[in-house]
Amino acid sequence: MSERELLQRTAELAADFLESLDAHPVWPPATVEQLRASLGGPLQAEPVDPRTVIDELARAAEPGVVGIPSGRYFGFVIGGAVPASLAADWLTSVWDQNAGLVVGGPSAAVVEEVAGEWLKELLGIPPSASFSFVTGCQMAHVTALAAARHAVLERVGWDVERNGLAGGPAIHVLLGGKRHVTIDRALRLLGLGSEAAIRVDADDQGRIRLDALAEALRAVEGPAIVCAQVGEVNTGAVDPLPQIADLCAEADAWLHLDGAFGLWASASPALRPLAAGVERADSWATDAHKWLNVPYDCGLAFVAHPDAHRAAMRLVAEYLVVDEKATRDAMDWTPEFSRRARGFAVYAALRSLGRSGVAELVDRCCRHARTFAEELARLPGCEILNEIVLNQVLFRFGDDATTSAVLAAVQGSGEAWMSGTTWDGGAAIRISVSNWRTSDEDVARALAAFRRAVAAG
Ligand SMILES: *Cc1c(COP(=O)(O)O)cnc(C)c1O
Repeated sequence: MSERELLQRTAELAADFLESLDAHPVWPPATVEQLRASLGGPLQAEPVDPRTVIDELARAAEPGVVGIPSGRYFGFVIGGAVPASLAADWLTSVWDQNAGLVVGGPSAAVVEEVAGEWLKELLGIPPSASFSFVTGCQMAHVTALAAARHAVLERVGWDVERNGLAGGPAIHVLLGGKRHVTIDRALRLLGLGSEAAIRVDADDQGRIRLDALAEALRAVEGPAIVCAQVGEVNTGAVDPLPQIADLCAEADAWLHLDGAFGLWASASPALRPLAAGVERADSWATDAHKWLNVPYDCGLAFVAHPDAHRAAMRLVAEYLVVDEKATRDAMDWTPEFSRRARGFAVYAALRSLGRSGVAELVDRCCRHARTFAEELARLPGCEILNEIVLNQVLFRFGDDATTSAVLAAVQGSGEAWMSGTTWDGGAAIRISVSNWRTSDEDVARALAAFRRAVAAG
């Protein structure tokens, strides 16, 4: 079989998978043990024909592939892939550029430049900000907070890239009680310590309480970083950004925003007021693989102070061919050295959707979330726990046992999948509508599964 035939055959398998999504349970049937049995065993000594490898891989793996591209997958906060970005992602693998350096792929570098500018405009980030395409919001936090670490220490005359943290001035990090766990890990990786951070109380929606933040900021002296968020992972709640920005300005603190999905509110004229104040941050972290619906893995970091961003990430080696004047070498802005040209998929998603399409995608997901909340609230015992400000719905059915039983029944039905969580000390169910494919019919099918589960319980 020629290489062309192999790729064509693979395209057929891919299309078959996508077209069969509605016929299969969203959560796949195979257990991990079954998958180990069908995929495992010793590595054989001799080569295997690529067609056989791919056919067997698809056959053995698909029973353990979650229907994440389905319109009825509502787990965590996970998007699908709009067709243009999926196709561009295939080309990205075919071209196999090393996007770390311009000489590793000039088009990859230019596409990132172009998409970076488009993204800033969509997300309400000042045009002068620098940016990087990283693997996810987790690494976007690491990138942005490395820039923060550089900047707040530079202000007190300490060169952290050169000297490290030991013996230097302490940095005070303030974060909300309901920040995402990836902030904690970023702080750990950067030597700032997750337990050393000052936790600020959050309200019942997970928003930072301003009085608590003001008090905490008054108590610290010297370099300070505040991590706020646009879109709490359970409720979608947005911190009071303009007031937080005022407090940070007064305290000369760096303001970092976790907007993994919530930052996309800025791309919708209807929702933009919710994200007012976003533009006043010093750095931003978000994802393209969530609400923009590009394939994994693609996160985005933006920094209002390009010098700090570059100082934190820049790399010099004799053997690297760099043309300082030509364009930006991505490796000067990211923690990665060699890297995938993930800008192509973002570029394609943005081109295919246009500004109106991105806004419509965001608005549509939020409309579906409101429908879920309205219809679920009619079910006996259902309590909606959050204000539906974005695409997240958080709810429970009376006690923990009933909530867990309803969730298990819906998951087990194969009609839809969503994850559970703990909120206010009790079990809860969370629905995140983040997939471009989710239709009114998908929402109706998922609601019907809940009605059956509640009636059976
Ligand atoms: C998903 C999420 C993250 C982590 O993003 P990854 O892309 O998975 O690294 C961070 N913060 C929030 C609010 C999220 O929803």
